[in-house]
Amino acid sequence: MRAKMTGIFMLGFATGVAVLTGTLWVSGALKIPAVEAGTPRPVAPPPAAVVEPAHPTAAEPVPISSGADPIAPHLAMPLAGVEPTHLVDTFNDARDGHKHEALDIPAARGTPVLAVAEGNVVKLFTSKQGGLTVYQFDNSRTFSYYYAHLDRYAAGLKEGMLLRPGDVLGYVGSTGNASPTAPHLHFAVNRLLPDKRWWEGTPIDPLPLLL
Ligand SMILES: [Zn+2]
Repeated sequence: MRAKMTGIFMLGFATGVAVLTGTLWVSGALKIPAVEAGTPRPVAPPPAAVVEPAHPTAAEPVPISSGADPIAPHLAMPLAGVEPTHLVDTFNDARDGHKHEALDIPAARGTPVLAVAEGNVVKLFTSKQGGLTVYQFDNSRTFSYYYAHLDRYAAGLKEGMLLRPGDVLGYVGSTGNASPTAPHLHFAVNRLLPDKRWWEGTPIDPLPLLL
């Protein structure tokens, strides 16, 4: 008798549990972890998705030394007896509607003009503006040095000859568009272009190179 009662109770209890479980299941309140575990997880991007960018050196042109040449060298004074600290920077002055881009050094007519660095005379040229001029390249053919308004050339000066710092190449004058009453050396430094033409280049202020 007792055993039968117990059995009925157990059956009733089991039924109640089953119904409750079913209700919760349907309502979604009861989640079965096994289902969650079986659900495929969001897959992490495969390593192939993290592609390295194309190698930079292959795609982007790397600046070569053509644009960034060696630093302009220190130069010897082109006129003897002139203190570099007494020079007046005339590089940015306006002249005839363009930038001067050179250094004017006033001096008495006939003052010897000296090579500022070692290198060959590339061109002896007479122009309307510069008058009697000398173009010299440095030994690395990176820079050109331009001496203008000369009164005359040094004896024996020739294109192609090698000058060393301090060699006399000419004498101060006022040829070209310089005022006859104000003889001076017009001295310019240019960074040569790849073609190394004596009449082309990027102007550099000479004054800091002389200090
Ligand atoms: Zn000048």
